[in-house]
Amino acid sequence: MRIRVGHLYPDYLNIYADRGNIAVLAERARLRGHELDVHAIGMRDPVPAGEIDLFYVGGGQDREQALVAHDLVEKEKPLRDAAEEGAAFLAVCGGYQLLGRFYRDVAGDELPGIGLLPLHTVAGQRRMIGDVLLDCDWAGQTMAGFENHAGRTILDEGAAPLGRVISGFGNNGASGAEGCRWKRVYGTYLHGPLLPRNPWFADHMLAEALAHAGGPTELAPLPDELERAAHEVSAQRARARGGKH
Ligand code: GLN
Repeated sequence: MRIRVGHLYPDYLNIYADRGNIAVLAERARLRGHELDVHAIGMRDPVPAGEIDLFYVGGGQDREQALVAHDLVEKEKPLRDAAEEGAAFLAVCGGYQLLGRFYRDVAGDELPGIGLLPLHTVAGQRRMIGDVLLDCDWAGQTMAGFENHAGRTILDEGAAPLGRVISGFGNNGASGAEGCRWKRVYGTYLHGPLLPRNPWFADHMLAEALAHAGGPTELAPLPDELERAAHEVSAQRARARGGKH
C-alpha cells in the first residue's frame, strides 16, 4: 500500500529531532512492503482534501508556533474534515498545542489553535523538562520520551489522554495525564524523537493510516531489540526522576 503522509510545517515545527518520526514510519512501512509517500504542507499550501492518510506536525519554540498558527487556522476546515473522515494525526508538543483551541505563551499572547483536540494550553514560568514514562492502558503498553515545554495543557472534561504519567510532568504537572487522543488523532509532549523508542506506537500509527487508506492493518512483527533497549534506557531515566512532578 502507498501510505500518504502530510507533514505540516516541516521547516518550522521540527524541534528535538521530531523529523525522525517520519524516518521511523517510512522504514517500518518499507519493511512490511508498504511505501510512505510524504508531502510537505507548508505556509499557504493547500491541504489535499481526502488524499492524506496521516498528518504529522512536530514541535517548536513559541516563536515558530507564532509564525505558523494563523496559517494553520486557515487550514482548519480541510484538517477537521480529514479527522472526521478518519485520517490519522500525530502531533508533538508545539504541534499538539496548536491542535487545541489556543496556546497562551509566557508573555500572555494567545495563539489560536484549530480546536481539533478538546484542550487548551497556557504557558507557565517554569519549563517542564526531562524524561517521561507513561502508562497507555488503552494499548497495554508504556510510552517513554523526553519533554521540554512551558505550556500547561488542560484537557476538557471527558477528553481521553494518551497516557497516565508514571514519571515526569505530562500535560501540566498536576493532572497525571499526558497527551490526548480523539478518533485517529493523537497528540503528545513526548519528543526524542518519540517513535524510535516506542515501536508499538509507531506501528499503531501505521495501522491507523492503513485503516484510512483501506489497506490491511495487520503488520508483521519486527525484531525491535534495539528499539526495546532504547525504550528501557528512556524508561529507566524517567523512573530515576521519581514519580509525578
Ligand atoms: N513552545 C511550546 C512550549 O514551550 C512548545 C515547545 C515544544 O514544542 N518543545 O510549551
